[in-house]
Amino acid sequence: MVKSGVRHDYDLRSNLCTDDEAMCVVCDEKLKGNTRWTDSFGEAVCITCEIPYQLLRPSGMAEDVELPKCNIKPEWLPRLKEYWEEKRQPMGLGTYLITRDYEEDLEHRRTFGRWCEERGYG
Ligand SMILES: [Zn+2]
Repeated sequence: MVKSGVRHDYDLRSNLCTDDEAMCVVCDEKLKGNTRWTDSFGEAVCITCEIPYQLLRPSGMAEDVELPKCNIKPEWLPRLKEYWEEKRQPMGLGTYLITRDYEEDLEHRRTFGRWCEERGYG
């Protein structure tokens, strides 16, 4: 099955960097088999909700940081979970450098952004 946002086999190689136990902190899906790379080194999104995770350690990252690490500020997680519970829609929050290649993700991000504005979430 072709999953949303998957363009090349390369995108799915992120799944080789995910352990069997890791679960998405927002949508509760297993990360293994459900991620794709973004444009940032070692970062992949959960395909279901499009929340970014650091799977590989970039240079300079402390060795004691446990991977996979959710790349969302902890104070935002309750808002993301609220959105997920209400909408069940992906949020497009990965790191993308050439945005024209990720129109669908950006539309998800815009929709999420409007939802946040309506609630006064900065
Ligand atoms: Zn997820």
